[in-house]
Amino acid sequence: MQSLTNRSKVVSNKHLSLAERLYLPAIFGGLRITFKHMFKKKATISYPEEQRDHGRLYRGQHVLKRDEQGRENCTACGLCAVACPAEAITMVAGERKKGEEHLYREEKYAIEYNINMLRCIFCGLCEEACPKDAIYLTDRIAESNYQRGQFIFTKDKLVEGIDKSDRIDVSDRRKAVRKGAM
Ligand code: SF4
Ligand code: SF4
Repeated sequence: MQSLTNRSKVVSNKHLSLAERLYLPAIFGGLRITFKHMFKKKATISYPEEQRDHGRLYRGQHVLKRDEQGRENCTACGLCAVACPAEAITMVAGERKKGEEHLYREEKYAIEYNINMLRCIFCGLCEEACPKDAIYLTDRIAESNYQRGQFIFTKDKLVEGIDKSDRIDVSDRRKAVRKGAM
């Protein structure tokens, strides 16, 4: 009968030699490959004790930025969520109350802002879509966990600290995003 794929192989029915019947050539062939790899430079590292250097524009864990005065930049406009191809971002918008001007830059802000890191593919489209300079990917590695629920990163993991020393420098990424070089 004619094969549908033309990928069929004719099976050889030749008699095996004594060495082949003892599997010795195959065993020595396998050992040769094992020894060859034992003396090669390892391609893996012992993460997290060892870390690799990342490129300047590595796309790691997101940060929600504050402005110079420490106020959250995000206005919960939702453009990042719309741009996200993985539907990883959700948020709840709220209105800034009197007396909260030092916390939120504009009248509207994100009461909740969540990124499902199991969905995120670190494409960076959220930072490109953001009109408020509020979200950037950073060179930080998103922490791993054994519990699925722990991969929903909430504002406490995403918003940078108020102190200048806790700010995350995204100047390289900001330049690249503005140039459209991502
Ligand atoms: S990096 Fe991409 S996948 Fe991840 S949250 Fe942003 S837009 Fe969505
Ligand atoms: S991070 Fe930017 S795009 Fe996303 S909701 Fe906030 S202001 Fe809008």
